[in-house]
Amino acid sequence: MDKTEQGASRILVVDDSATIGIVVKNALKSAVNLPVDLARSLAACKQLIDENPAKYQVAVVDLNLPDAKEGEAVDFVLNSNIPTIVLTGSLDSATHEHISAKPIVDYVTKQSPGSMAIVQRSVIHILRNMNAMVLLVERDAGFRTQLKSILATQRLDVYEAENGTAALQIMEKHNDISVVVTGYDLKDMDGVELCMKLRASFSGSKLAILGITTNSNDFSGVRFFKAGAEDIIHHPFIKEEFVSRINARLDYLDSLRIIQEQANRDYLTKLYNRRYLYEMGNALFSSAVRKSIQLMIAVLDIDFFKRINDTHGHDIGDVALVAVAHAVQKSFRATDIVARMGGEEFCVVAVNNNAPMETMNRVRQTIENLTIPLNENETLRMTVSIGVTITLKNSLDDMINIADEALYMAKQQGRNQVVML
Ligand code: GH3
Ligand code: MG
Ligand code: MG
Repeated sequence: MDKTEQGASRILVVDDSATIGIVVKNALKSAVNLPVDLARSLAACKQLIDENPAKYQVAVVDLNLPDAKEGEAVDFVLNSNIPTIVLTGSLDSATHEHISAKPIVDYVTKQSPGSMAIVQRSVIHILRNMNAMVLLVERDAGFRTQLKSILATQRLDVYEAENGTAALQIMEKHNDISVVVTGYDLKDMDGVELCMKLRASFSGSKLAILGITTNSNDFSGVRFFKAGAEDIIHHPFIKEEFVSRINARLDYLDSLRIIQEQANRDYLTKLYNRRYLYEMGNALFSSAVRKSIQLMIAVLDIDFFKRINDTHGHDIGDVALVAVAHAVQKSFRATDIVARMGGEEFCVVAVNNNAPMETMNRVRQTIENLTIPLNENETLRMTVSIGVTITLKNSLDDMINIADEALYMAKQQGRNQVVML
């Protein structure tokens, strides 16, 4: 189950200094959209957690408090199963040893100038990692357990495989795994071979591969890279290095997803944009032709939209556009394409719609019934004209042109109507 859906929705900050508490709280507020509770003692921290331990997604906890000089607050929060980032006054190797033996997410030294940025990054990682999955492929059960426990401190879901065949089977079942960490010698194949087999089905934009090598001079590292691994790590390594490399891979995949999403979406309405409409629409068109599936193309244009802008201003025009976009989107399945062609014009590409006129008339009606509040007494209403076609042509473009002709006729015949050609 998605761990973020279990009711936890707050962040806990524990520090006896009010100043530091506020600084951390503000840093978190600007990084993530979750409410933050402050506690200034172990007693206050216990009280907050005892009310409902499940309400905290993550905690940032001072190692030393007046009523918890030996890190008892950190232990208490960890025992409540809350991912914990520790704040320390200073960092020496004894403190490091003491803290890093605990299953914490990370620790941060308060005085360093970049400390708040590290807290922000750690919290963002933890919230993200709760929904991310990693596959560990390693023949040595002891080493595998060790790696798994490190990943578990980062709240990653971990699948385990002791050889390449088992790894491939797991990937087949769980294609939402984001990172594969693989050892070199896997009994049935080597990690490089596994890497090549994975790359036959999973591109680097969906799956990251991290190879573990045991000798930095070994040629195995080179082979991993050449087989499509994004990174390698030489064993022995420190925990921080391993965690950092995994998070870097996940960050990269997140960035790619965000860029892709931004490239495909219209900024204002969040509908797919014209570029994506043609890219996915052409794919849908080809598969419809191949499988003799019926394709419906509809083009919608808001009536007298210029008048809305001129009368009420561009901002209200934008609100109206978003409302129409939302209404059209809601009328179709997620597998259909609803896009903003540009301006106040939208396009729908839907498969297997057996009643196109009825469907589009329902959409037209929905928009006619929309009311956009302007002030206490006034609302704005609008209508759309729609052109639709199901006649299969030589290309998606040809079908859109036919739907456009139908739209033109709908406008000519008085607007607020659907014409099918
Ligand atoms: P018709 O019924 O013939 O479609 O008339 P119309 O006024 O809707 O058509 P026209 O194409 O003349 O006007 C479209 C207007 O849409 C003009 C343009 O300023 C406005 N528009 C285009 N994009 C946006 C936008 O992103 N936001 C706002 N507010 N207006 C936009
Ligand atoms: Mg218009
Ligand atoms: Mg127009």
